[in-house]
Parts: sequence; structure tokens; C-alpha cells
Amino acid sequence: MGEKKYVDVQEESSVGSPVWVACPWRERIGVLRFESEEGVMEMRECRLFIDGKWTGASSQDTFETTNPATEEVLARCAAGNEEDVSKAVDAAVKSFADWKRVPAPKRGEIILRAASLLRQRKKSLGEMVTREMGKVIAEGEGEVQEAIDFLEYIAGEGRRMLGETTTSELPNKKCMTVRQPVGIVGCITPWNFPLAVPSWKLGAALIAGNTIVFKPSSLTPLCAAALVEIFQEAGLPPGVLNMVTGAAQTVGQAIVEGERIRAVSFTGGVEAGREIYSRASKKLKRVALELGSKNPLIVMDDADIALALEGILFGAFGTSGQRCTATSRVLVHEKVYAEVMDELVRRTRGLRVGDPLDPSVDMGPVCGREQELKILNYIDMGVKEGARLICGGRKLTKGDYGRGFFIEPTIFEATHGLRITKEEIFGPVLSVIKVGSYEEAIAVANDVDFGLSSSIYTRDINRAYRAIDDLETGITYINAPTIGAEVHLPFGGVKNTGNGAREAGSASIGEFTEVKAVFIDYSGRLQKAQIEG
Ligand code: NAD
Repeated sequence: MGEKKYVDVQEESSVGSPVWVACPWRERIGVLRFESEEGVMEMRECRLFIDGKWTGASSQDTFETTNPATEEVLARCAAGNEEDVSKAVDAAVKSFADWKRVPAPKRGEIILRAASLLRQRKKSLGEMVTREMGKVIAEGEGEVQEAIDFLEYIAGEGRRMLGETTTSELPNKKCMTVRQPVGIVGCITPWNFPLAVPSWKLGAALIAGNTIVFKPSSLTPLCAAALVEIFQEAGLPPGVLNMVTGAAQTVGQAIVEGERIRAVSFTGGVEAGREIYSRASKKLKRVALELGSKNPLIVMDDADIALALEGILFGAFGTSGQRCTATSRVLVHEKVYAEVMDELVRRTRGLRVGDPLDPSVDMGPVCGREQELKILNYIDMGVKEGARLICGGRKLTKGDYGRGFFIEPTIFEATHGLRITKEEIFGPVLSVIKVGSYEEAIAVANDVDFGLSSSIYTRDINRAYRAIDDLETGITYINAPTIGAEVHLPFGGVKNTGNGAREAGSASIGEFTEVKAVFIDYSGRLQKAQIEG
């Protein structure tokens, strides 16, 4: 199929008038017809969004987005390149002067309208997230809710956008700071939260008055396009938000290196983050990185074990373990180890894996062949390293699993220090490690290169507070799993999880604004700071 010549029906009158797919997002979806041995076929096409218009890629190249549960092709998408990024930047530059002058509360009104459209379409968008990314439907709808929550929250920031006022060392002089947009910003996002992560970046960048070139993951372009269309419908002026789908090495690189893009906001893997940071730093750009992790959950001997088990199952196998905050290591006190392990394995074996649109299913597929291969390699590596495979570990292939990328929920009994206990697997693979004390648990928890999320289950309030101080992560949960952040708090990590940036909450305003210091002298004469007075 990859080699077939695709024709955009809209531009090719000889093949008939356009046939729009019946869906609420008509504009961004054209219909492609192509001739094959089986006859004329039609397929949906997802386009680029530049300067307020849905358009094909300048090269005419396309790529497919598929449903990871069925391998069904959902759409063909325009594969942009450097030329398309350049057009998107032109549009962003053109619209910046006007957009930055729109009062922030007015920008907030548009964002609030976008939140309301998301709310109206929550069910169908949740389904789209599930179809394109593979998380179970409750999580698909939960993700839409997260986007709604954040946009509602950040719209309100339009009425804060706080600066400082302070005193001066000289008389008849006032000092203050004001926030200004950075300019043209590049937003690059992953596939595991295809609606929520873009909404965090786009919402914060927009309220602050920036204009945007947005590149979503090539695994989930439809979700991204649905969000962009909602912003367009909400009244965003042309050119303020532009989306270029396509490969990391063309579109991504052009965003990172583009001279006119002042800041890059990236969420994704560590290797990509490292490369982006080093390339962008040569251009002295601002870079915000939200990367991977290896999140620990500690179960102490005084924990509510039933509660901890619920948390482990949700934290480890929710989203098939494909969350940056997923619980990938459980550190269990030796006194309760056998009890926790027995029940954990029993309940993990009982998880229903299957069609993520079926509400009774606990865990869907992983998001694609490449992801599946990487996870299976790690499972193989775990066995070779000497970890004990307690349950799961295989790709599911029979019957309903004949198509799609399903892996059994997997548990290893491991010792700290193996690669499977230190590297991000990003799949339904959990390592359980026995520890002898709180001190050992903290030492093991912290002995990784990452630091996004952590959790401790204990009934000892003093120990809980100590853990907040001791765990080296950007997020810590007490008696709750490592997943479940709320949008009005900052989100981000330490060590290799990032470079100190935080998203969500009011911190996200900092990512997308420059702070200007202003001195107002009303003395009517030249006053010399540091020299007189
Ligand atoms: P990825 O790094 O492969 O890709 C992320 C995005 O960056 C994609 O759009 C990709 O096309 C683009 N990209 C990749 N290399 C690039 C380059 N050199 N230059 C420019 N663009 C480039 O990550 P992924 O597989 O899509 O997502 C999974 C990763 O994301 C995991 O490591 C996960 O932990 C991380 N993640 C982190 C957070 C967080 O907030 N810390 C949230 C979600 C996901």
C-alpha cells in the first residue's frame, strides 16, 4: 500500500466530486482515491494545518495511522517536510504581532470555548483516542477530561499572568515585572497522551500570547488534528496555531533548528530529548524537556495492603504501562513481601486483555509494532539477566489477538541493578524488588537516572512526610499509585526526566513567557542607581 499513488479528490476533478467522510471533523479529512489491482479504493486523509487551512504536504508524501488493537488503517496523513515547517513558521510569524496584543483574558475566552467543544465531544474523542492509541475506553475519555480540565484552568490564567511589583532603591521610582510571550514556539509531542499532552502545551503557549508550530507523534495524528480543529472552531485566528505532521528527522528537526522558532517544548523519550537539547542549545533556544522515567512504588510493612495492590495494578498496567508516570518498580518490605506478591500475581493473571473499546476490558494493546518489539526484547533481557518471570511475558496471538499488539501483563521478581529495573520499558512489565527497611527502599528508589514520579504506601505519618523529602522525583504520592496527576499542579521530573521545566499548573506560564523588568522614574530628573542615594 505504501507505494500506491494517492490522488487528492479535492484537487483532481476528473475523479469526481469530493466524497466527505461522515464525521464532525470534515474539514481536515479529505478522501483519497487510488487505483489498485482490487479496483478504485478510497481512504481518509489527514492534512497539515497551516495559516488557518487544511492542506496537503508539499511533497505529496503520506503515512498511515493505524488502530493498534486491529491494525486497521484509520487514515493516511500528510507527511510534511522542511518546506511545510517553513510555511507554518511564516504563518506563525505573520500572526504573532496581532495575537500577542489580544488581551490575555480574551485569549482565555477562545481557550474556554475549545474546552467546551471538547466537553461536547468527549465521548467521540475518547473513542478516537482509544482507536488510535489503544488505551481502554475509560482512560480514553479520562484523557479528554484531562484536556478539558487543563484548558479550563489555563484559560483562567489569562486573568492572572502575574508579575511582581517591588520597591526601588531610589525615591519617586517604581519597579515591576511584566510577562511577555516568547514568540514563535515549537511544540513536539508523543503518542501516549495524544490529546492531553498537546492540550497542555498548546493551551499554555496560547494564553501567554505565543504563536505555534506543532508536531504531534506520527502514531497519533488524528487525535492531534481533532484538537487543532477544535481550536480553529473556537475562534483562533489563522496562523496562530499550525500543525505539521511528519517524521522526526524532517519536521521535528526543522522545528528544533528553525531560526525563527524561539522556544521548543518537547515531551518524549530521553534519547530524542538529549538530541533536541543539544541541537537547540547551539541556537541558544529555550528548551523545555519532559522525558521518561522508572517510577518506584514502595509498600512498607505497615501499609494498607489491599489499597496498595489496587494502586500497583492501576499504576503498572493502566495504559498498558505506557505512561511516563507508570509504576514500573514495586519495592516491597520483606515482612509483607509474600502476601503482596501472591495477591498481586493472582490479580494480574485475572486482568482482561483485549479490545480497548469494550468497557469490561482492563488492558488494551501496546501502541504499535515497534513498541511491542521493544517491550518483548526487554522481557527477554530480564530473563537472560536472571530475573524470575512470575507471570505473563508473552505476546498474545491466538483467536481475537490474531491482529493487534497485545502483550500479557508481566511481573518479574528482580534484584535491584538489572537493566529491567533501571531502564524505561514503557510497557506492561513490572519488576518487584524485596527490601529490608525504609532506608533501603529509598536508596533503591533513588538509584536510577530518572526522577518523575514516586509513591509510598504506609500508615506512619512521620515516615510519609520523610518520604516526601527523601524521594528524588518531581512528583510524590502518599498512599496512591505513581499515576494520576491533576492539572493545576506542576508536572515534571528531576535527573534525566527533564531539564527542570514544569508543565501544567501555573508553572506552565513560566515555560512560555519572558519576564521583563520595568523601572518607572517619576522624579523628573536623572537618578543614578548604585551611584547616588
Ligand atoms: P519519542 O521521543 O520517540 O517521540 C516524541 C516526539 O518527538 C514525536 O513527535 C517524535 O516524532 C519527535 N521526535 C523524536 N525524535 C526527534 C528529534 N530528534 N527531533 C525532533 N523531534 C523528534 O517518544 P514517544 O515514543 O513518542 O513517547 C514515549 C516517551 O515519551 C516515553 O519515554 C515517555 O516516558 C515520554 N513521555 C514523557 C512525559 C513527561 O511528561 N515526562 C509524558 C508523556 C510521555
